[in-house]
Amino acid sequence: MTRITNHMPTAALQALDAAHHMHPFTAAAELAAKGARVITRASGVRLTDSEGNEILDGMAGLWCVNIGYGREELAEAAARQMRELPYYNTFFQTTHVPAIALAARIAELAPGDLNHVFFAGSGSEANDTNIRMVRQYWAALGKPEKRVIISRKNAYHGSTMGGASLGGMAAMHSQGGLPIADIVHIDQPHWYAEGSDMTPEDFGRARARQLEEKIAELGEDRIAAFIAEPVQGAGGVIIPPESYWPEIQRICDAHDILLIADEVITGFGRTGNWFGSQTLGIRPDIMTIAKGLSSGYAPIGGSIVSDGVAEVLGRDEFYHGYTYSGHPVSAAVALENLRIMDEERIIEHVRDVAAPHLAAAWASLADHPLVGEARSLGLMASLALSPDKARRAPFAAPAGTVGHICRERCFANNLVMRHVGDRMVIAPPLVITPADIDLLIERARKALDETWAAARDKGLLEAAA
Ligand SMILES: *Cc1c(COP(=O)(O)O)cnc(C)c1O
Repeated sequence: MTRITNHMPTAALQALDAAHHMHPFTAAAELAAKGARVITRASGVRLTDSEGNEILDGMAGLWCVNIGYGREELAEAAARQMRELPYYNTFFQTTHVPAIALAARIAELAPGDLNHVFFAGSGSEANDTNIRMVRQYWAALGKPEKRVIISRKNAYHGSTMGGASLGGMAAMHSQGGLPIADIVHIDQPHWYAEGSDMTPEDFGRARARQLEEKIAELGEDRIAAFIAEPVQGAGGVIIPPESYWPEIQRICDAHDILLIADEVITGFGRTGNWFGSQTLGIRPDIMTIAKGLSSGYAPIGGSIVSDGVAEVLGRDEFYHGYTYSGHPVSAAVALENLRIMDEERIIEHVRDVAAPHLAAAWASLADHPLVGEARSLGLMASLALSPDKARRAPFAAPAGTVGHICRERCFANNLVMRHVGDRMVIAPPLVITPADIDLLIERARKALDETWAAARDKGLLEAAA
């Protein structure tokens, strides 16, 4: 077997990749024809590929590299932990220092009485845990029929059977027999696409009230929980109208159901507070965490659970856990990540410096002929591409056609910006400087110009009727 290194020609790496590596969320035949981009190293907010291009990472990997790439301290924390105790489990009445320390630190950071952490290896696993946890919670209270979980269309809660079922992605549900039983979806608070001529505030309230209607329709005695991302991420960075969350909170308080905030993206500084729930005024019973918890340096996720839920759950054995629940190396890396976030005042940097700078610069893109909406919250932002801004009209071409062109033009201009249909989204590392935000905007604007020209040449600037 030849040793495969960074120094092999890109085409050889791509050929081996196509021959043996199955990619997530990818049409393999299409990628094999084109060849995957090979990323070889990264530092700060910049990636380097096998051709030597330096690319500004507007997505922090997959919404996760919050403290930026190349932090030696995290490598050291992992190496130290691997030497001391590379693995031990937390089943069978054992524990270890990294899991203890991380759980205690998370409890300190989390608002209210969210004081207990059940660890998982990822956000999807944590949401699978949440499904079992909320059902077991109600069963322990003598109400086993309270097992339905209400979620939202176009939500993203992961890719396992449970996570993808909670999610409201139609394409994902079309494969593999999803959703699993007793998970139902209400409409999303996506005013730009679905608000027609309502004001955002009226629309936000109306969408929130669908939760109350669904509870009434199915019966409160059957509903275990409502789950939602404070701001939908993978669905297209959809920032809800201000009326939405207060009404959701009121409904959850008025009915006997649990509220799960999926903070996998919004947690750990993304919105300018430790948690998105703090930014949006949400009081969840359970929070899902992953991604920014370790800034993506090691896989780890978890559920942060309120005193009340933990107490009920603790009455009997919860027959659930993962080999890597609280993995010591991941936990040590996460702890070091949280230490740096705290000591370097990264949340303050987001709130006082980076987010205000991004908000102003991003909003300026709304004057581009292709941009129907440009919104940001903290360091997550989205653009709605539209051929007819006044009507907020979608393109006549299949959704995502123009968005895909734009993503490719971003890449060609050394910027990672993702497309979700015809929405463009960014979530850069939280350590991004104002100068790099300006560079991001400059490249985005150039990519938008090129997208507009390409769409015009291909006759794609028609609006849907
Ligand atoms: C990414 C994501 C998940 C899934 O996390 P994985 O670590 O990929 O399993 C769940 N919820 C939200 C909101 C996410 O963005």
